[in-house]
Amino acid sequence: MEVSITEKQEKGTRPEDSKLAFGSIFTDHMFNMDYSPDKGWHNPRIEPFKDLSLSPATMMLHYGQAIFEGLKAYKTDDGNIRLYRPRDNFKRLNKSARGLCIPEIDIDFIMESLKTLLKLEKNWIPETMGTSLYIRPTVIATDPYLGVRASETYRFFIILSPVGAYYAAGFNPVNIWISKDHVRAVRGGIGEFKTAANYAASLYASEKAKKEGYAQVLWLDGVERKYIEEVGAMNIFFNINNELITPELNGSILPGITRDSVLQLAKRWGMKVSERKISIDELIQAQKDGSLKEVFGSGTAAVISPVGEIRYGDDVMTIADGKTGPMALKFNKAITEIQYGKAEDTEAWIEAVD
Ligand SMILES: *Cc1c(COP(=O)(O)O)cnc(C)c1O
Repeated sequence: MEVSITEKQEKGTRPEDSKLAFGSIFTDHMFNMDYSPDKGWHNPRIEPFKDLSLSPATMMLHYGQAIFEGLKAYKTDDGNIRLYRPRDNFKRLNKSARGLCIPEIDIDFIMESLKTLLKLEKNWIPETMGTSLYIRPTVIATDPYLGVRASETYRFFIILSPVGAYYAAGFNPVNIWISKDHVRAVRGGIGEFKTAANYAASLYASEKAKKEGYAQVLWLDGVERKYIEEVGAMNIFFNINNELITPELNGSILPGITRDSVLQLAKRWGMKVSERKISIDELIQAQKDGSLKEVFGSGTAAVISPVGEIRYGDDVMTIADGKTGPMALKFNKAITEIQYGKAEDTEAWIEAVD
């Protein structure tokens, strides 16, 4: 398949790096491709960023059959464009596709298309450490049909957004709120797929947490509401007695690529690492007896997010005196330096674009 390219006549301008927020401005072009049962994935094209034109009966709007990914392109000091573990994102997209009965996409083809798009949008990639070009591949069900079944037609698109640091406050600890009443996902459901519906399920508790002054929700398992699962759009890590613990992937947790990066680095560095169940009682106990040293989240948007406070009912736990701990700093430094080409890519995570 050949990707056709239609260039925009009047190009937009990228804001100054210091003025970039997250996810509110988009580049000049997008990638589009369609699926139908007779043609498969077809008509791949790069064209000016524009609104979608959809029937109000479009199935995605009614039944939520939509999946997405989130990854970033980084510019190095010498102006090269680099992607961080992009094939893992597209592998996960295909896993989400299988989970939501969406046809899979050829990873080599989509990598080439993404690289073509990024080269065209090179001027949109910011340069300062901490800034990047956020990449959002998405697949939506497009049959205009009311009735529950898997759609027969789909649109795949990629849009790009230059982004600043995820948290406006910088690399400072966030506070998180454990929901006692609400659950995000259950085993056997779709929690391990990156789908819009999981976010719909998270909104009510997230808004409640925000009203209470908390940045994000830490979810417990949907069955016993006892075991810790993950935070909003991040996986979670605990340092208890110098054992680095993250909840094991159980089917309702999103398998984060940053999570996997932290695990791989921790093992390489000879740290004691466990992927296992960790209950809220164990956490409360560890905080009480002083063995809980650090908590941090991991995800593409913020890389590592130190956690300074956790609230569970009336229990307010302050972590590491509300400061950023050494482990969070170490992982953040190691991963970002690889991403920006400032450290050797020891794990072969980087894919060059040009
Ligand atoms: C995307 C996402 C993550 C983080 O995954 P990364 O690949 O590290 O960005 C964690 N939890 C949820 C629910 C997510 O959607």
